[in-house]
Amino acid sequence: MELKDLYREIVNDHNINPVHKYELKDPDLVLRGVNPACGDDITLMLKVRDGIITDGSYTGCGCAISQASVDMMLDNVIGLDSNTAVKRADKFMGMIDQKITDEKDLEELDEAMYLRDVSHMPARVKCAVLGWRTLREILNGGPKELKDK
Ligand SMILES: [Zn+2]
Repeated sequence: MELKDLYREIVNDHNINPVHKYELKDPDLVLRGVNPACGDDITLMLKVRDGIITDGSYTGCGCAISQASVDMMLDNVIGLDSNTAVKRADKFMGMIDQKITDEKDLEELDEAMYLRDVSHMPARVKCAVLGWRTLREILNGGPKELKDK
């Protein structure tokens, strides 16, 4: 299968059968992420215990790339501690910005690696990074919110 077809197939699959698209009960962190350029609008919900992301979900709507990307992102970061998750998001952004191109270095992104082609589609870049950007924001604000609990 060609990489382009594989990319399309994975994006489709995450839209038809999203794993994490539902309302999470009693989330510890909630943040809305919007990409006005395309109309993508998501709400990210996370459960965090002792600094580990134990569960996560999203709701909202948007184009196929934005929705697939946030679903892949959650696949990738659930189970990680928040520092590692932020680094993972940085890596994804680095890939989309074409600053990180080494395949070995990108391996830990798993399926999300197939979105690297988006870096050649400037109009779709904001769609692809929306979920990861929202994750980074939610976690950078996270420790404070957790302390308040
Ligand atoms: Zn979009």
